[in-house]
Amino acid sequence: MFSKTALALLAISAQQALAHVVVLPDLETRAAGHAAHNEAPKFGYTTLNAANGWPAQCSTGKHQSPIDIKTSAINLFDNKDMIIEWPDLKNAKLANHNPGVYVEEFEGQPMRVRLPSVNDGNLTLPLVQYHFHTPHEHTIDGKKAPMEVHFVHTDSEKIVVLGAHVDVKEGSSPLDKALARINAIPGAHMSEPTGPIKMSEMAEFFKKAPLRRYFGSLTTPPCTEGVQFFIAETKLSVNKQTLADLTTVLKNNARPVTAYTGNWNGKTDL
Ligand SMILES: [Zn+2]
Repeated sequence: MFSKTALALLAISAQQALAHVVVLPDLETRAAGHAAHNEAPKFGYTTLNAANGWPAQCSTGKHQSPIDIKTSAINLFDNKDMIIEWPDLKNAKLANHNPGVYVEEFEGQPMRVRLPSVNDGNLTLPLVQYHFHTPHEHTIDGKKAPMEVHFVHTDSEKIVVLGAHVDVKEGSSPLDKALARINAIPGAHMSEPTGPIKMSEMAEFFKKAPLRRYFGSLTTPPCTEGVQFFIAETKLSVNKQTLADLTTVLKNNARPVTAYTGNWNGKTDL
């Protein structure tokens, strides 16, 4: 027989085992030092602190993101070469890391992407967070969108980002669900649980989408290069209200398209 306390403890440890909480550092804002020190970010998107005045590789790099995806110049990626394993989430954290809003600290089965390494063997990287930009960062043959989402996979060394434009559509998509509590986190360091999110629906989207791959950088300081970007030509969606609410919180957190030099399809960075 177990005492009531022992039973309660067993129940808690079983829940913890099931939850399998994945907590990994996010790359973009923490690399800039603000989350670690609880300070305001060292960069911004206003004219006074414009994206083109950012430090280090942001200013000196030759393969900076975002870019205009020129479909005539960048090869179509063969979707068969990428395995996206994003099981549905039980819960996650919607966090305001001003100037970014992230979905992170996933509860559920591990999520990852597998693809052939550019050099040899296979690359398997966990999905550690996804985040939003309003409006778009990349353009596709010059086309714009009111919002863009970046799914960041990394082992802290190699980085693979799946990105897509997001357009307005009626109804409730998995991104609407992920952002349902956005009004409750208007300021930095605020967060809310998301509840379940159908990640598998978004995995299906990327499995079918025409994808363009190029080698770029993080789009926030320190703008580290060697990031493998896959940008979908088709769009994900949110409803009008979600876009309005997210835009109120993020305002403009989109880096302008950069003067990328070199071979779009270059494979020397990884
Ligand atoms: Zn991003």
